[in-house]
Amino acid sequence: MPLAMSFDYVWQRSPENNIAPVVGMLSLVPFGRREIVGLIVEVAAESSLGVDKLKQVLSVRHQLAPLSEEWIHFCRFAAEYYQRPLGEVALPGLPKNLRAATTVALDRGLKKLQKQTVENDATPHAAALLNSEQQIAVDHIAAAKGFVPILLFGVTGSGKTEVYMQAAAQILARSEGEGESGQVLILVPEINLTPQLEGNIRRRFPDVMVVTLHSGLAEGERTHHWLAAHSGKAGIVLGTRLAILASMPNLKMIIVDEEHDPSYKQQEGLRYSARDLAVWRAHQLRIPIVLGSATPALETWQHAQTNRYKQLNLRTRAVPDAILPTVQLIDTERDKPSVGLTSTLIAAIKRRLERGEQSLLFLNRRGYAPVINCDACGWVSNCPRCTAFMVLHKPEQRLRCHHCSLEQRIPRSCPTCGNVDVQPLGRGTQRIEEGLQGLFPEARVLRIDADSTRLKGSAQAAFETVHRGEVDILIGTQMVAKGHDFQNLTLVGVLNPDTALFSQDYRASERLFAQLMQVAGRAGRAAQKKDGNISQVLVQTRYPAHPLYGALVANNYDQFATSLLQERQQAGLPPFVHQALMRAEARELADAMAFLQVAATSLNIEGIVMNEPIPMTMTRVANIERAQLLVESTSRPALQAFLKEWLAIMRAKKTSVKWSLEVDPVDI
Ligand code: ADP
Ligand code: ZN
Ligand code: ZN
Repeated sequence: MPLAMSFDYVWQRSPENNIAPVVGMLSLVPFGRREIVGLIVEVAAESSLGVDKLKQVLSVRHQLAPLSEEWIHFCRFAAEYYQRPLGEVALPGLPKNLRAATTVALDRGLKKLQKQTVENDATPHAAALLNSEQQIAVDHIAAAKGFVPILLFGVTGSGKTEVYMQAAAQILARSEGEGESGQVLILVPEINLTPQLEGNIRRRFPDVMVVTLHSGLAEGERTHHWLAAHSGKAGIVLGTRLAILASMPNLKMIIVDEEHDPSYKQQEGLRYSARDLAVWRAHQLRIPIVLGSATPALETWQHAQTNRYKQLNLRTRAVPDAILPTVQLIDTERDKPSVGLTSTLIAAIKRRLERGEQSLLFLNRRGYAPVINCDACGWVSNCPRCTAFMVLHKPEQRLRCHHCSLEQRIPRSCPTCGNVDVQPLGRGTQRIEEGLQGLFPEARVLRIDADSTRLKGSAQAAFETVHRGEVDILIGTQMVAKGHDFQNLTLVGVLNPDTALFSQDYRASERLFAQLMQVAGRAGRAAQKKDGNISQVLVQTRYPAHPLYGALVANNYDQFATSLLQERQQAGLPPFVHQALMRAEARELADAMAFLQVAATSLNIEGIVMNEPIPMTMTRVANIERAQLLVESTSRPALQAFLKEWLAIMRAKKTSVKWSLEVDPVDI
């Protein structure tokens, strides 16, 4: 049983149990044969179930200050919006230690917090002198009163972080002036990939307790950081999407960096968007929220265009003499790649090597080759359990399915016809790495992807070698596109981005554009050297005339977003309609489809468009067949009301099919 629903218990005063429960406190209660920790969401003198039928509260965790009504209200909103029980939102957000049967870890955490003073180890950094656009942005954010949603639209390297830090400093100073200790929440897509940011914040705020909240923390750390936020002691909380559920009693501003990033969307369990919840939380608390991006999500852009969000622009790079790289398209029909690289790109890398500058190659495909095949009979390395290929991993000498993690030995000959000449088809990062080593035997080549960074801390260590200048050519997946400020990097090569252009997923081009802008933004971040190369982005494509690449070359997000929004409006897609997706999983596809057929006819309400159930694009994963049913409406309240009623009907049905519902789905 998940800890999800609300249940009634009776509390009786006793010598050990003599502090009355209050809403927001945690308490230990019997549940079935176990004892579990729950959250008190209501205190009442009566129960409709009859007091004598109720089990007793075992103890109340009064050493922990109650979670605020506002926080519970926020969780309640999220629960209703995503059509889940309150407990499924509120409880997983709490550190495990707080939910343990004993209070040992909690008491230890509280004691540690009491003793803790702000660590002031490194030398503090002074604030940078802002350029005029940054200054306008900081003034505007710091002056915001009440709920003010702000889009900070700044090109890569425009110094958004500096704006966040100076605005946060003013907001914290103002709270202090008013005799309060304010708090600021900064959300980032991934902390481990941008450790620079944490260090920068600590050095800038030597007198403020800064804590992080992300899934990589050990349980003790997580408890400690959570308590620091909950007690109000931490002035700045830096976290990934789960931090949006942190308890912060004095929250005065929320910042969402790279607000368009897909990792703000939780893709399992409670499928929430941390960015959307952040906007709602700011609204509830009547505080400003800053959404920063060079390529805002279309939803966000639409809000800015219709003046629901205030838009502030940073159009130039912040470092004097750092200029945005020029983007050039290489037609791979004319300049045919060998080992995956065109002669133009190879020559550009060579020039960087001669000058001691760094190159970055971006390929969003890990492994050696996405599939192996037999020319003689047409056999391909399908995963036996998924609608997907087994990917060749050469260093590991394995075939691997990236969806169900199945591993196999590489066959010596074709399993169907015995042909010994089985060939890898296509290129992943490992194969490009091999090609680079062949072309530039003297160069120091480093690959960074999920395979090369499996060990904890290894990604960070790898990035540090790049920062220290010990790498000449870096090859990697989207991991290398994010946030890094590589000082000596003047060339970015983009390999094979075309597949996303023709994806069934209507969001694929939006994502591709954001990714390309971001990876392009890794080049030319430092002041240009007099005798150095001009920073450059080379995109290898078979479709150089595609408008997406045109907008990329022109560095024109506005144009791209405007045309994409027009397309979406014509096609009746988000943000012009609101969607919810029901997914069904079963051993047999027919069962999943039949369930969705029933769902599709269970409730009919005007203004709600019920689509036909269909198998998912990747129908089978780990031998489970999957189907989906899309529900749409132009009115969000109408959709919400429908979902509530519809789910009540569906939950009452008995079925062996595993099903779930996602509000505002992104991968469909
Ligand atoms: P973004 O997040 O917008 O991509 P960053 O915040 O990483 O950009 O800033 C890029 C670089 O510009 C950093 O090295 C930062 O220290 C520097 N920077 C920011 N503001 C200024 C400024 N006003 N003057 C000089 N350098 C600045
Ligand atoms: Zn064969
Ligand atoms: Zn598989």
